[in-house]
Amino acid sequence: MSSLSERGPAGLTLACDLARRGVAFRIVERDLMPNTASKAKGIQSRSLEVLDDLGAVDYVVRTGIADLPMWFHDEHGTTVEHPSITVPAKDSFHTPYPNLLWIGQFDVEHALRERLADFGGAVEWGVEALDLTQDEGGVTVTLRAPQGGRTAPYERGT
Ligand SMILES: Cc1cc2nc3c(=O)[nH]c(=O)nc-3n(C[C@H](O)[C@H](O)[C@H](O)COP(=O)(O)OP(=O)(O)OC[C@H]3O[C@@H](n4cnc5c(N)ncnc54)[C@H](O)[C@@H]3O)c2cc1C
Repeated sequence: MSSLSERGPAGLTLACDLARRGVAFRIVERDLMPNTASKAKGIQSRSLEVLDDLGAVDYVVRTGIADLPMWFHDEHGTTVEHPSITVPAKDSFHTPYPNLLWIGQFDVEHALRERLADFGGAVEWGVEALDLTQDEGGVTVTLRAPQGGRTAPYERGT
């Protein structure tokens, strides 16, 4: 069976999981290069556990910041340090990653892309999913390649 996903953290996570299970897949992204926007900035314990399970957590732990310094201006314009806004998970959660980590989404995507490469997978940049149809035989996705031409429909089982 084959699958197809898109390159955000969700698609990359799925691609890593499929790759490690030996399931054929393609991961496509209509953008031509990796995302550089921070987007999601806080990664929670459970997400870190999922990354750990995939073998992609080390870079995120190295790069993320648990105790993000915060400053604000009071009504007199004075800069004041704010107490940490990170609240660790309770012990009852039994997580090895009790702290939310502050890290840009592009860095989490980087960690997942690197792990995907370890599994032999890679994002197909500049490829857009145009159409998706489903019947009893499977799902067919039509893709547009960078050149603008349509690739052959992608069918489950091919
Ligand atoms: C400015 C901003 C700030 C945010 N801040 C936070 C935050 O602080 N905390 C938080 O938890 N969340 C935040 N979010 C939300 C977070 O970024 C999303 O929840 C997360 O990106 C969802 O991941 P995803 O993989 O589902 O989708 P995405 O990250 O959107 O990835 C989907 C990818 O698929 C590609 N794509 C879409 N359609 C097609 C197609 N037809 N063919 C090919 N490729 C396609 C897109 O180009 C994109 O790269 C923020 C989002 C934005 C925009």
